[in-house]
Amino acid sequence: MSPVKGKIERIYKILKANLPLPEPRNLPPVEELVLTILSQNTSDRNRDLAWKRLKGKFSSMEEVAEAPLEEIESAIKPAGLYRQKARRIKEVLNILKERFGGLRIPLKGEELYEFLLSLKGVGPKTAAVVSLFSFGEPYFPVDTHIFRVSNRIPLAKGRTRKEVQEKLNSLVPDRLKKELHLLLIELGRSFCRPTPNCSACPIREHCDFAKGFPSREGKGRKE
Ligand code: SF4
Repeated sequence: MSPVKGKIERIYKILKANLPLPEPRNLPPVEELVLTILSQNTSDRNRDLAWKRLKGKFSSMEEVAEAPLEEIESAIKPAGLYRQKARRIKEVLNILKERFGGLRIPLKGEELYEFLLSLKGVGPKTAAVVSLFSFGEPYFPVDTHIFRVSNRIPLAKGRTRKEVQEKLNSLVPDRLKKELHLLLIELGRSFCRPTPNCSACPIREHCDFAKGFPSREGKGRKE
């Protein structure tokens, strides 16, 4: 096993023993897709509020697909960028209907990931989230928390989330992808925040950033 893969396994075990494992959402694929579009550039709280309002206003995603744009916009307003997001949601739902004859995505593996990526407003993280959580496909989504944590430890370094995602996707064993993704987000929320709490962090012994690297940047332990 390569050193970094060994490190990933060790960190996974420590995080699992020390952090609560957040419940995955387990939404149907099309709902997960809509929710991840809502979640772009907003807080979890605003996303959840917009999602609740959307679900309260429409009884199904089919209804959302048929609804006037303004009604979707007013339902999802708390998510921010609501005009753009409403247009994207409607477009995506209608592409599914045209391509697959209904609101379903009968694809697997790379074909599924590439199809998701081809949808306007769906980037590598969203495509990987939907592939992993709704289809059980082995992808490792990298959000802002994981990007920060991964570069600090480091697990995989990169200048963009896409770059880090590609590296972690091949480094993290498939059996760990779901849980490690959730645990690293939890780590990023609880300890490894933009100003990290290294002294209380359960993986400080395994983290270069906590040991003062890269000190040459003169940034200490802050970002
Ligand atoms: S030790 Fe500090 S920098 Fe490293 S993962 Fe923990 S909180 Fe983040």
